[in-house]
Amino acid sequence: MPIDVRYDPENVFARILRGDIPSDRVYEDTEFVAFRDIQPSAPVHIVLIPRGQPPTSAASVGDSDAPWLGRMVVLASRIAREQGLTPGGYRLVVNCGDDAGQTVGHFHLHILGGWILGPVA
Ligand code: AMP
Repeated sequence: MPIDVRYDPENVFARILRGDIPSDRVYEDTEFVAFRDIQPSAPVHIVLIPRGQPPTSAASVGDSDAPWLGRMVVLASRIAREQGLTPGGYRLVVNCGDDAGQTVGHFHLHILGGWILGPVA
């Protein structure tokens, strides 16, 4: 099922933001929330999401999204550093659509690290 450009307020990240389902939060501010992925792909696997109803995927961002997208990448770098990933390095991942395996239609960024991650493709 393709990720819809229309935002579904019942998606799992919307429910996490509302507090309807629990999450293991490592960071939050007025704009973003970061929590541990429930099915981690690495020793450190954090999902960073904007609050509110952001674009559902990278395919639907536009020029007006550039400021918060920039702040999001800067924040991801800070969270990675605070999680102790900076010396070894880490990977930031944005899955977009079916072919990339995107499952949640709320723009998000994965922070992965804590071991050798191997080639991207
Ligand atoms: P993506 O495949 O890029 O859409 O990433 C969605 C991620 O959300 C997956 O890695 C899931 O394991 C993760 N996820 C789904 N439900 C939860 C949850 N309740 N708490 C934490 N992570 C979740």
